[in-house]
Amino acid sequence: MNKIEHIGIAVKNIETSNSLFAKLFGESHYKTEAVESEGVKTSFFKVGPNKIELLEATNPESPIAKFIEKKGEGIHHIAFDVADIENEVKRLKEEGFVVLNEKPKKGADNKLVVFLHPKSTNGVLIELCQEII
Ligand code: ZN
Repeated sequence: MNKIEHIGIAVKNIETSNSLFAKLFGESHYKTEAVESEGVKTSFFKVGPNKIELLEATNPESPIAKFIEKKGEGIHHIAFDVADIENEVKRLKEEGFVVLNEKPKKGADNKLVVFLHPKSTNGVLIELCQEII
């Protein structure tokens, strides 16, 4: 894995949280994007070399809605940049990690993404992402 690509934070209301985090970082988000297949609206902030993704559910079946129902707002996942997502999935499966979607799917911010089940990663939802070129 190359680096942390971003940290995902689940929020109830992305407009309210956009202004909250803009105050915190001293800078507004630079983009918003809906990922319909996941039932989420996202926004992205740059903090120096790092990125923060806010996620709001767009329907009650969304994984974000379920997360907030169970745990409340807060850190939802950590995303790692990988060069070759299919090889990385293969390697991690061989190491015994539980992959949520074996076939990489299109996520926000022009990425192919795969999630690892938190039960195999000490309770942390891990997102692997590879930039789509
Ligand atoms: Zn993410």
